[in-house]
Amino acid sequence: MDTAFSNHCYNHRSRQAVARCPECGNFYCRECVTEHDERMLCSNCLAKISPKRSAGSGNWLAYAVVFLQGCSGWLVLSYTFYLIARALLAIPDDFHEGTIWRQTWWNR
Ligand SMILES: [Zn+2]
Ligand SMILES: [Zn+2]
Repeated sequence: MDTAFSNHCYNHRSRQAVARCPECGNFYCRECVTEHDERMLCSNCLAKISPKRSAGSGNWLAYAVVFLQGCSGWLVLSYTFYLIARALLAIPDDFHEGTIWRQTWWNR
């Protein structure tokens, strides 16, 4: 074991500490620390930094809601453009005095 870490784990008094948490400054054994952004953090500090990740199985629901909101927003936007296109095409041809309006992006 590395002699630099002479302390014992903050959670396990009988175990040799192998890492020092940069957030709380306590020493921990290999089992009590987790790598996060190239730093070794204890489970307590990791939970403080990323509270969403510690929430567990409820995460996928939040992602699904965000995804559905994005989809519905995109659909509304597309439908709005579709209605605008329909409105423009519904205008009589002689109103435009030409064929420029027919060769727009949605007819290609
Ligand atoms: Zn810590
Ligand atoms: Zn430990």
